[in-house]
Amino acid sequence: MSIASLFQNRSTIFSFEVFPPKRNSPIDTIYKTLDELQDLKPDFISVTYNAGGNGAASKQPTCEIASIIKEKYNIHPLAHLTCVNSTRGEIVAVLDELRNNGIEDILALRGDINPDVPPKTDFTHASELITFIKEQGGFSLSGACYPEGHCECADVISDIHNLRKKVDAGAEHLISQLFFDNSVFYSFVERARIAGITVPIEAGIMPVVNKKQIERMVSLCGASLPHKFTKMINRYDGHPDALRDAGIAYAVDQIVDLISNGVDGIHLYTMNNPYVARKITESISSLRIV
Ligand code: FAD
Repeated sequence: MSIASLFQNRSTIFSFEVFPPKRNSPIDTIYKTLDELQDLKPDFISVTYNAGGNGAASKQPTCEIASIIKEKYNIHPLAHLTCVNSTRGEIVAVLDELRNNGIEDILALRGDINPDVPPKTDFTHASELITFIKEQGGFSLSGACYPEGHCECADVISDIHNLRKKVDAGAEHLISQLFFDNSVFYSFVERARIAGITVPIEAGIMPVVNKKQIERMVSLCGASLPHKFTKMINRYDGHPDALRDAGIAYAVDQIVDLISNGVDGIHLYTMNNPYVARKITESISSLRIV
């Protein structure tokens, strides 16, 4: 069963993102995180892929972790895969590895362009990766979307047209970039539906639990910060427990509003922090079955 098919006849889908352990850390450091996330019964868990400088040429632990999620934890895995620094041959090698490990769902991404590494030329956009994987066969595909528009795109309308190309190429499900203002997400979904994008769109929620994290995230993805949010960050700066609890409450508030408004799914960027994932999941547990 593909991830896209989980959305049929279901109330809100609830999923997590994890990232592989840092380079030189043993792979099994992820077990502790997964042990705790398993208890929270997510519908699926996605595993990031480091676009890095060498792309598929340097072996990534994504497939191994996705395989552990499936075999050891019996949870549906979604493997991220980027193409910006990969040749077609390198992508074929990753697809073979995924196929051999029984991984059927891929979040197909371009990846960020590293200013120090000229991108390879086989793939320019995620839609080309989707078309290529479709030609190889055997996978269901998801794509990324950007409620505030992708940072390289001139305007949100062009970005929606480009998103439509990604869906037309074969993305059956979309996961959004993080956002802190739900009205931005609702306007985006409206634009997407008007543009004829009918696939399920999950809302990406990042619980912000320390100031450094928010500064890094905003510099990476450019999410705008509502006044209510910056007031919270400034109010509790220097009080780590208070900021963590306020960040959790903010994310819960966003999720309750999204579910009330009929969102297809919530994708929680867990940052490998099971404590935060647990607090949030417990707060909304009864909403998941309505
Ligand atoms: P694309 O869909 O190719 O879009 C990139 C830009 O090109 C956009 O501005 C778009 O408007 C434009 N564009 C797209 N198609 C066309 C076209 N046909 N013609 C003209 N312009 C076009 N990065 C990682 O390295 N590893 C990860 O694991 C990872 N996971 C992510 C998960 C999610 C849910 C999200 C939202 C992002 C993730 N990223 C990850 C970041 C992502 O790689 C970057 O945001 C990257 O810059 C764009 O990737 P994309 O797949 O959205 O690219």
